[in-house]
Amino acid sequence: MSVLEVSDLTFGYGDRPVLEGVSLTVEPGAFLGLVGPNGSGKTTLLELLIGLRRPDSGSVRLFGSPAHEFADGERVGYVAQDDAGAGDSMSVTVAEAVRMGRYPRRLRGRFTDDDRRAVDDALERVGIADLAERRVGRLSGGQRQRVFIARALAAEADLLALDEPTVGVDAESRTAFYDLLDSLNDEGLTVVLVEHDIGVVTARATEIACLNRRLYFHGDPETFVETDALAEAYGTDRRVVSHGH
Ligand code: ADP
Repeated sequence: MSVLEVSDLTFGYGDRPVLEGVSLTVEPGAFLGLVGPNGSGKTTLLELLIGLRRPDSGSVRLFGSPAHEFADGERVGYVAQDDAGAGDSMSVTVAEAVRMGRYPRRLRGRFTDDDRRAVDDALERVGIADLAERRVGRLSGGQRQRVFIARALAAEADLLALDEPTVGVDAESRTAFYDLLDSLNDEGLTVVLVEHDIGVVTARATEIACLNRRLYFHGDPETFVETDALAEAYGTDRRVVSHGH
């Protein structure tokens, strides 16, 4: 079964169209990089993919169900943009935040050894075991994004959706962060990543979707860099730029 099946998706805020006629499929194990200029609808599409918004028309199926009705929340890990510093006020500790990933599994019981192990493994896996007792609000942006990934790992998520996770993160930590994503993807986790840095995303992702209200391209990175899709979507195509001059 596909992880995501998007079919002729249309969405707007009020009567302002943001996405039109978007269709794409994401198979298990893919690493999809979602690119496009500012305001092209990337965040909106990501929110639709994981069911935070409902399509105006067309459909988004997440693990076979309409995304906005998808109930199995722990299968999806979401790392939202941190541009508003939303995590600054989080007073829970890193360990507590990651433990939350186990909550959907323990409605019927206490926190088990399995839960504890899953949390410890997840902290270890993303390299923040030493920060377990630190308050999330005290972390750097890059460390905080790792907490959210650890929470998804503890939840045994099958899909990780990330929205520009390394904004404000220094270059070295950024490389380490993408190395981590790569290895998680190699282990079978499906990844959908919104990223403005085309160089990073074409180097890391196994497939690229290029968006600007409509989908300009969906395919492998090697083909993407050879086509005009990028220039067309970003409006830097010479024909477009010279138009009217
Ligand atoms: P991107 O992630 O590619 O920058 P977005 O999905 O954030 O694009 O935004 C697409 C368009 O929708 C932009 O023009 C933006 O201003 C608008 N938009 C985004 N969120 C909202 C909202 N909650 N209400 C109204 N308009 C919005």
